Amino acid sequence: MEQGDLRGVVALDGPSGTGKSTVARRLASALKSGYLDTGAMYRAVTLAVLRSGGDPAAVAASTRLELSTDPADQVILLDGRDVSAEIRGPEVTLAVSAVSAVPEVRRILVQQQRSIIASVIASVGGIVVEGRDIGTVVSPDAELKIYLTASADARAQRRSRQDLAAGRTATVEATLADVERRDRLDSTRATSPLRKADDAVEVDTTELDLPGVVAELLAIVDNRGLRPGRAVTR
Ligand code: C5P
Repeated sequence: MEQGDLRGVVALDGPSGTGKSTVARRLASALKSGYLDTGAMYRAVTLAVLRSGGDPAAVAASTRLELSTDPADQVILLDGRDVSAEIRGPEVTLAVSAVSAVPEVRRILVQQQRSIIASVIASVGGIVVEGRDIGTVVSPDAELKIYLTASADARAQRRSRQDLAAGRTATVEATLADVERRDRLDSTRATSPLRKADDAVEVDTTELDLPGVVAELLAIVDNRGLRPGRAVTR
């Protein structure tokens, strides 16, 4: 496969509603790199748990996940069936933090994530990976770690706009409560809680629009020399 422009792993962590997914996909497209949405994996396992009512660790061990790593064409298959839309629904969103707090679920998914990352690096040379524990656990040696933040209000506004665009209705207040609930669960769990890696660059997106965030991240990528052939911009 043809090499893209990025060399290495860009780990993109942060709470929900920071624009992380859109930013990560745009960044990967601009760099012609691979892209891995680890949240989609936790969501798919959660869907499987909700459907079967089984023990999360057993479900994670027995379900087969297949993910596209093309930023322009995101599809996730659960045991061969496309669940890309269903994993974004309210039932999964409500249950995902509890399922992803189970240590054995994390162990299984982190192993899969590392193997996807290794194979994408071997084929196209670079990958943008987004989640909550990429810089701290999944890829502690990532060439670049970014921690995206935004005010809780800005995050709730963004989430509800996304929900509306996808045909799901919820008030901004309800979305804010959900964003805060998930952040609390994700940051306080015992195994791999959401936290900024010591060597991560923190980027606050509250006052930035999408092109602004992507431009800032591309500048950091170039500054680190991760896009060979590009001049250091600052
Ligand atoms: O990123 P997204 O909002 O789709 O993630 C859904 C949930 O999956 C998060 O709230 C978190 O509980 C879990 N998650 C995680 N570790 C990751 C990615 C997501 O625990 N690396």
